[in-house]
Amino acid sequence: MSILEVKNIEKRFESLQVLQKIDFSLEKGESIAIIGSSGSGKTTLLRCLNFLERPDNGSISVNNKVIFDAMDPVTQRDSEVRKKRLHFGLVFQNFNLFPQYTVLKNVTLAAELLAQERPSFKQEKKTILNEIQDRGKMLLSQVGLSDKLDYYPHMISGGQQQRVAIARALALNPDILCFDEPTSALDPELTGEVLKVIRNLADRNTTMIIVTHEMDFARDVADRVIFMDAGVIVEQGTPQEVFSNPKEERTKQFLCRYN
Ligand code: ADP
Repeated sequence: MSILEVKNIEKRFESLQVLQKIDFSLEKGESIAIIGSSGSGKTTLLRCLNFLERPDNGSISVNNKVIFDAMDPVTQRDSEVRKKRLHFGLVFQNFNLFPQYTVLKNVTLAAELLAQERPSFKQEKKTILNEIQDRGKMLLSQVGLSDKLDYYPHMISGGQQQRVAIARALALNPDILCFDEPTSALDPELTGEVLKVIRNLADRNTTMIIVTHEMDFARDVADRVIFMDAGVIVEQGTPQEVFSNPKEERTKQFLCRYN
């Protein structure tokens, strides 16, 4: 059963058509790598999925429920957007941590704010906050940062900051974890530690969409690869199909640059 179904997503910025007829689906536990040249629309696609951009056309369903349909204004109510965003966790290129909060607080903050809206929060405050702290610590241990809970972002390396951002994205237990070039802002020697964390998540069958320029990583970790060019999906298939036996000329040309 598909956890995510994207149908005919289109997006234009004024006269520039950035996404056209984007169709793909994602199974629970599957990892998809999205590859393609700069400017091909990869980030815009992720932003559409996370309601940071509104597609002009098409629909998005999660767990068989339509959460966005360009033809149905009911699915576009702003009041619903926050709830719908919870389906997705997003890890940005530049980490985007809150500089004024500790590593642990960065991970727990969203869950704490959400918990305050529960009717039982006042009565069960201590228990709820303890549970959130415990989960935050567990996630930080999963990304290898148990010894940095009380540090502030400026006190840790870029690779460590990105690992905090991954723990933060996991904190609200999203259905789908999205990465937008998670290592492109890192020095090469810090890339490996972040890729290792993502690889571990794939081994645990975390459902993921990873926009990446790391071709070897995409080949190793992804169950499926989507190649985009000029706003369209040119080709998709297993890593073996796309990397070793690409059908389309544009895919061949793109991959040539990495060989
Ligand atoms: P990629 O992630 O593949 O590098 P993007 O999705 O960032 O590609 O960008 C696709 C195209 O859309 C580019 O030509 C970019 O300049 C344009 N674009 C992205 N965001 C905006 C925006 N907010 N306004 C206008 N053009 C944009």
